[in-house]
Amino acid sequence: MSSISLMGAFALQMAPAIAQPMGPWLDEAMPMNVEEPVRKIGVCPKTYLAGGVQLQPAPELYWIWQPDQAWGRPEMIEVLTRAAEEMAWLMPEADPIVVGDISTRYGGFLEGHKSHRAGVDADIGLYWGEGRMHLGGFRDVHPKNLDLEANWLLIRSLLETGLVERILLDQRLIRVLKRYTIESGELTVEEAERVFPIGYNRMWTHPAVVHHAPSHKEHMHVRTFCWAGT
Ligand SMILES: [Zn+2]
Repeated sequence: MSSISLMGAFALQMAPAIAQPMGPWLDEAMPMNVEEPVRKIGVCPKTYLAGGVQLQPAPELYWIWQPDQAWGRPEMIEVLTRAAEEMAWLMPEADPIVVGDISTRYGGFLEGHKSHRAGVDADIGLYWGEGRMHLGGFRDVHPKNLDLEANWLLIRSLLETGLVERILLDQRLIRVLKRYTIESGELTVEEAERVFPIGYNRMWTHPAVVHHAPSHKEHMHVRTFCWAGT
């Protein structure tokens, strides 16, 4: 993998993502309307979830923290299942991904979160040590203990779905991940600048990149696009 697919490949990635689910478990997790053409991107209800899909158990791929808070839009379910399958293939020795809150069945306010109301936000765990996840719940990961390779592969897998608008993570963790991608040759400096914008900026108009957010030392927050517009 010499370079990462960013917005230029977004449209190209959409079609296969919709037409070719990656495994039988994904078929089950997929909602009815996935074969509909893309109508809108970036237009979603913000305060509720309609037509939500519950992330189905797949313990070899991911662990669901609270199933009744693991409802998301179809795009979110696809992102999580595809990224988890990719990780299982790339790093079979690593722990399954821990999936925290997405949304409740019909969305709306979710205790402890500003967002997570519309099925487009999910919290997922960070790898520490060598491919380990804190399985009992999220815990702070010091930059020194961050599994750089595993977390980078997870971020890459998420971005490659073409359905991720942004990922939020603490700046100290972003900094070591960014350095890793450059030093390991995973990304060129230019690519790394696009994936991990400098500093504390919150230019959320830039899609598919990793941004700083406070209180994200123990998990990453993933926001997906809305492509069905319903
Ligand atoms: Zn979150």
